[in-house]
Amino acid sequence: MRFLPVFLDLQTGPVLLVGAGDLARAKLRLLSAAGARIRWYATDGNHDLGGLAADDAARVELADGDPLIADLGGVIAVLCAGAGDIGPAMSARAKAVGLPVNVMDDLAHSTFIFPAIVDRGDVVVAVGTGGASPVVARRVRESIEALLPARIGDLANFIGSWRKAVNGRIAAFPLRRRFWERVVDGPIGALVLDGRGDEAEAALQAIADPAAFATGPEPAGAQGRVTLVGAGPGDPDLLTVKALRALQDADVVFYDELVSPEILDRARRDAARVAVGRRVGQPGIGQDAINQLLIEAAQAGQRAVRLKGGDPFVFGRGGEEVEALRQAGVAYSVVPGITAGLGAAAQFEVPLTFRNEAGRITFLTAHKASDAAAVDWSALTDARMTVVVYMGMTAAPSVRSGLLAAGRSPQTPVGVFARVTRPDAQAAVGTLGELPALLATIESGPAILIIGDVVAHAAPWRQSQLAQLSSYFQVAAE
Ligand code: SAH
Repeated sequence: MRFLPVFLDLQTGPVLLVGAGDLARAKLRLLSAAGARIRWYATDGNHDLGGLAADDAARVELADGDPLIADLGGVIAVLCAGAGDIGPAMSARAKAVGLPVNVMDDLAHSTFIFPAIVDRGDVVVAVGTGGASPVVARRVRESIEALLPARIGDLANFIGSWRKAVNGRIAAFPLRRRFWERVVDGPIGALVLDGRGDEAEAALQAIADPAAFATGPEPAGAQGRVTLVGAGPGDPDLLTVKALRALQDADVVFYDELVSPEILDRARRDAARVAVGRRVGQPGIGQDAINQLLIEAAQAGQRAVRLKGGDPFVFGRGGEEVEALRQAGVAYSVVPGITAGLGAAAQFEVPLTFRNEAGRITFLTAHKASDAAAVDWSALTDARMTVVVYMGMTAAPSVRSGLLAAGRSPQTPVGVFARVTRPDAQAAVGTLGELPALLATIESGPAILIIGDVVAHAAPWRQSQLAQLSSYFQVAAE
């Protein structure tokens, strides 16, 4: 480590900025965000502030003349961005008087460098690579951004506002630390992160004896909770930021058979992993037993994640689990996921709605032939409706006959999309009449059917049209 990260208080004096163009204006924005006073030498004479807010603009002093002979008295740092040859010369001046200086993209002339920054109010994370690769620093920053709760700055701010009052009431330092750990990790911290600052204030106010709060036993079960998490259709990059955070925070993960190993890999390394799913044709442990496992984990104080393929509330039995948790008085929350139908639509470019072609979408399941028998197909004959069928592989023949009998055209475009968003995803497109033949080409599930005119916009459909055309021309040429 050659560069030590330190945090500079920009309220203590002006920063000298030398340079022009977008590079200088980017630095203006960055410095203004930190409340800096800036003395700006625009080396091209253009002092346009690029739409800086009035408050910030008021703190910018537009300086004329030659920066190389400028008075550096009181200046706390020198920055050159888009300054051309003046950069190295300015650097020599700053160094001569012992001022920290940064010349953008010029390590040799800089005595400090800018990190990539995660900025959440009072919580700031700086990422550096010693100037080697800003792009790598940015990637690291993105990973951190994804993991930090959005309101982490509020939490720091909340604690900052209470710190003096509470610390005055707890003399011993280790006890203070324990107190704040319990606030941050416990229900009060969770309230702040949830945007319920008023309730957090009230809860902290209600602590009559801070020392006892810090040393007392953890209230039984208080920390335990269940998070139902939608894992999306397979690609781990389709996890939501919230899903990722829940996985990183989990003590135990109860997962379905649909959840890919790559997604499970994103869970905290030492989280226990318990498979509770059932495979097609094989019984699982049963919904009641799953509910029981979730309740027991939470009651034992664990942070349990119930990880489900797609979205928990789309044919995922999330509703039943929530009901069981509610009845048992267990704290829970639900994180949505990208459901298979949306994953298929995005990957294979099927617009589920399209101006005059489709103004309605129906998600339905027809797992067993008996389910298919129970579907009211006559409700699905609207030609402007896109029908998405989950668990439709086995019931596809009944789906086809039901729709045809109800009057939907055998020419209606259909797509069978298997293992969507995974590396081995597969698609077969054709017409409702051809559905059994399309299915026969699918190597393995899970697969979803999309039925409706919009399927004719799908990428594989356009490819098959092209292929037909070119074979026609080939035949014609021969
Ligand atoms: N909760 C899930 C659906 C569970 S039901 C979701 O929102 O996606 C299981 C059905 O979902 C499968 O039979 C299949 O029809 C569909 N499915 C799930 N993952 C899929 C994938 N990667 N590719 C295609 N279909 C998928």
